[in-house]
Amino acid sequence: MVDRRVTLTFDNGPTPDVTERVLDILAGQRILTTFFVIGSKLGEPAAVSLMQQAHAAGHWIGNHTFSHTVALGDRPDRDYALSEIEGAQARIGRFAHPEKLFRPYGNSGRLGPHLLSRAALDHLVANDYRTIIWNNLPGDWKDPDGWVESCMAQVSAQDWSVVVLHDIEGGCLTRLPELLRRLEDLGVTFEQDFPDAVTLTRKGQIVSLPESYVAD
Ligand SMILES: [Zn+2]
Repeated sequence: MVDRRVTLTFDNGPTPDVTERVLDILAGQRILTTFFVIGSKLGEPAAVSLMQQAHAAGHWIGNHTFSHTVALGDRPDRDYALSEIEGAQARIGRFAHPEKLFRPYGNSGRLGPHLLSRAALDHLVANDYRTIIWNNLPGDWKDPDGWVESCMAQVSAQDWSVVVLHDIEGGCLTRLPELLRRLEDLGVTFEQDFPDAVTLTRKGQIVSLPESYVAD
């Protein structure tokens, strides 16, 4: 038995026919998580309904940009940052977590200076967003055979894993029950909150932000 904490997050949804099944699996194990949703997907009533269901079940709803197409650091103008952040936040509306959780688009999950522009960072701080990254990226969307093993290895290697999974077609759904079984066999503690190590900004302050995550 190891002493490991695990926070699960589901990015890039909501996705009809996928997100509801992810919610069922999580409910069966009484695990609470965060869904980082894409604003443009919330133009569909079915996606909005899934966000409502997740929220009603006790999951947190976070903002994962409006378009999820060009990373904020790759288009540094202020208007782009505002439309990506506030466009999505407006569609999330009253379902937003009170701490205004925001996760930048990583472009295949990469961490680096493309994550944030200076304008985006200034906006996130000035508007009290809690900006959350990740430290466990199993690659469910690109490695259907290996991602569970990769996730488990990353869980074993650190005290508190913040895991990025995807509630999209071809994402984590098929093997999510297996992952949860293995995590429970390992005796991990499931958390819903996030450690400071993956919190870039919170309550108008920088928490832990390598300068290498901001483009200049
Ligand atoms: Zn994403």
